[in-house]
Amino acid sequence: MVNPCKLCTAHCCKDYLITVTSFDVLRVIRNTGKKPDEFLEFSDPPMLNADDETILECYEQNERFDFVLAFKSHQCYFLGKNNECTIHQFAPLSCKLYPYNSSGKITPRALCPLISKVLFKIDPSSASHARSYMAQLKEYKQIVAKWNRSHGKKSECLNFLLQESYSLQKSFKF
Ligand code: SF4
Ligand code: SF4
Repeated sequence: MVNPCKLCTAHCCKDYLITVTSFDVLRVIRNTGKKPDEFLEFSDPPMLNADDETILECYEQNERFDFVLAFKSHQCYFLGKNNECTIHQFAPLSCKLYPYNSSGKITPRALCPLISKVLFKIDPSSASHARSYMAQLKEYKQIVAKWNRSHGKKSECLNFLLQESYSLQKSFKF
């Protein structure tokens, strides 16, 4: 079957803030050898649809600042020429799942062109990533909660997230 994304100009990779988990970041570091500051940023939480449990609370002089972990976006740092993902094999699980949601259904407001949506409906193989996505997201949220209890500084946050994730990664297929 035709790849539905070949009929699109990568709307999702251009229009969304690409939020990720620390497990996604470990996968990219391992497979590309890139340093996190090349491709990663602490972004302001999106105005809409923010998942409160992924918000990182960082403190400077007793003042709280909120962030989410994200790839450099608009467009995604990893979007290459011809609108192809340059890290396709080890892209974030949310990317592998999209346009399906965690219930394995097509996201109602998915950005895909109509023809692509039809093809996704005919062959819902991407939906099979839902279970792994939910498992890693659940662990990530627990790591975020632990970080938030620490009232730490932004400069310490990424090391904390990666160290916590490193010790848990064996339980996931990487
Ligand atoms: S990682 Fe790949 S699939 Fe995900 S938004 Fe970036 S370019 Fe698109
Ligand atoms: S998932 Fe949808 S919006 Fe994203 S590249 Fe594929 S067809 Fe386009």
